[in-house]
Amino acid sequence: MSFHPADWRRHFPLLANHPQLHYLDNAATGQLCETAFDAVTLHELTHRANVLRGTYRLAEQADAAYENARRQAAAYLNAANADEVVFTSGTTASINLLAHAFGDGLRPGDEVVLSLAEHHSNFVPWQMLRERRGVTLRFLPLTEDGRIELSCLEEFITPRCRLVSVTHASNVTGAVTGLAPIVAAARAVGARVLVDGAQMVQHGPVDVAALGADFYAFSGHKVFAPNGIGVLWGRAEALAALPPFLGGGGMIGRVTAEETTYAAPPRRFEAGTPPIAQAVGLGAALDWLRAQPWASIHAHTARLAQRLLEELAVLPGLTFLGPRELRDRLPIVAFNLAGIHPHDACQLLDRHGVAVRGGHHCVQPLMDAFGVPGAVRASLAAYNTDEDVDALLAGLKDALGKLR
Ligand code: PMP
Repeated sequence: MSFHPADWRRHFPLLANHPQLHYLDNAATGQLCETAFDAVTLHELTHRANVLRGTYRLAEQADAAYENARRQAAAYLNAANADEVVFTSGTTASINLLAHAFGDGLRPGDEVVLSLAEHHSNFVPWQMLRERRGVTLRFLPLTEDGRIELSCLEEFITPRCRLVSVTHASNVTGAVTGLAPIVAAARAVGARVLVDGAQMVQHGPVDVAALGADFYAFSGHKVFAPNGIGVLWGRAEALAALPPFLGGGGMIGRVTAEETTYAAPPRRFEAGTPPIAQAVGLGAALDWLRAQPWASIHAHTARLAQRLLEELAVLPGLTFLGPRELRDRLPIVAFNLAGIHPHDACQLLDRHGVAVRGGHHCVQPLMDAFGVPGAVRASLAAYNTDEDVDALLAGLKDALGKLR
């Protein structure tokens, strides 16, 4: 299958309807693809019913669509079994689920290892767990260019460690984490591993079997699917060992006045009516993504990111956050312009039709490590083009003239 960014652009209704928009905030959210849009519409028009409750034909069709979405998500992750896929409302909900279901089984003295590059959604739930259970949090340090330091794993991942929870890729530097040594270090001490896949999933299918982790979390909106849906993948035996987090309909075996028994995973973790059409949209988007020519797409986005790195580097007073080379990193480029607040730069860029985000990007510990309060971030997806990069560069030159 050949790849043309213009074909991708046509497949995204918002972009097709706004040809002057240079959307470079894909790390925050991907645009909704037509495949997902159509799948949601068709589902709502033809199969809308609650799931796992009804015995009439429409309800059975809704069940089938929902379970098909689970299989599609499992295929995108190369999971061994569809029942290893728990639907949640997104990455944040997936991590909070684990912070309760896994975390509440921990005791004072147990350790959870994070890194200083984590998004607040992989930081705050563990700090809240520390408040509840008295566990110790340890933070893997970063290299100067913001990668997770891998030379000190044995010092941090000790026999007291119960869980290591790290991002697959940074939402600011784009740095992809070298997970193999982290997983090996965790295995050596019998600790579980959770990977925050929020950023990685947008850039092609993931192989959880090869990663060797126990849990993997991501959000639908990052993979060009609807909001309000996400996934917590868990290895079957790891999920089976966990109690539920939320209680309610759908997650039970039997309820009496005295006690409740729980359903097996994944239903044990899906209390209440789930986001059904959103799951169907997610499944459709993932199937569509799985069929894309990823080698060509990676070559395209890497070329654009390389152009950005080279042409930004010559702007006066510009400093990058993160690695300068493209090895093991996503097409995300974060930077500051001396004397210009990121928010001011973003507002001026908006007048050029360029949508980029400025601020702390929900990673204040990472910003602290870089010694800056925030940054401007341009994040590229397959539908971006040289015109988008041109518009960003032209807007920044304008900002330098007007704001300095
Ligand atoms: N982790 C990372 C690395 C992210 O980039 C994001 C989204 N910015 C999240 C977690 C949280 O995702 P959500 O808000 O969809 O739950």
